[in-house]
Amino acid sequence: MDSSNLKCLISREEIDSAVKRLAADIKQDFHDKNPLVIGILKGSFVFLADLVRDLDFPHEIEFVRLSSYGSGSTTAGQLTMIHDLHVSIEGRHVLVVEDIVDTGNSVAFLMKYLSEKNPASLKLCALTDKPSRRQVDVKIDYRGFIVPNLFLVGYGLDFDEKYRNLPDICTLQEIGEEE
Ligand code: 5GP
Ligand code: MG
Repeated sequence: MDSSNLKCLISREEIDSAVKRLAADIKQDFHDKNPLVIGILKGSFVFLADLVRDLDFPHEIEFVRLSSYGSGSTTAGQLTMIHDLHVSIEGRHVLVVEDIVDTGNSVAFLMKYLSEKNPASLKLCALTDKPSRRQVDVKIDYRGFIVPNLFLVGYGLDFDEKYRNLPDICTLQEIGEEE
């Protein structure tokens, strides 16, 4: 697929103002808690990089990476942690940062895994939320956008490892598909 099949859904400007709004909400809750901000690789890296630069209070950053096996493009299969935390989160205030909550399986798995390590608090910030696809209940504490049931790329989101560098969030249209 080439870039002619890309259609902008959420512009860089809209993303910027959402990031600022989310950072302000997060600041209210975490400014005096030295939270551990945990990004889920790979998709959240662009969002996390912007978000933390609007968090003007002490915090620390870690990453985890999940992988699912056995179900192709969905995460309904077996989830495993392929890059785990290297610090203890016991007694820490934790904020998980995700690019998109789709079926909810990844985030539900991670939140359960983290909660079993006894953090002082555990919250979720997701830039985008695709509720029409949800399979498990997930509480999103800080949400950027509700998005339709379309495949999104850009701003960290990939198709076959491509398009993560796009500044906007776009939809990929099939060749021949009407607007
Ligand atoms: P879930 O476990 O909620 O079904 O899916 C979470 C992961 O699936 C996301 O972190 C993301 O990596 C991937 N994903 C879900 N929907 C999309 C989408 O529209 N575009 C892209 N690029 N990835 C998606
Ligand atoms: Mg992801």
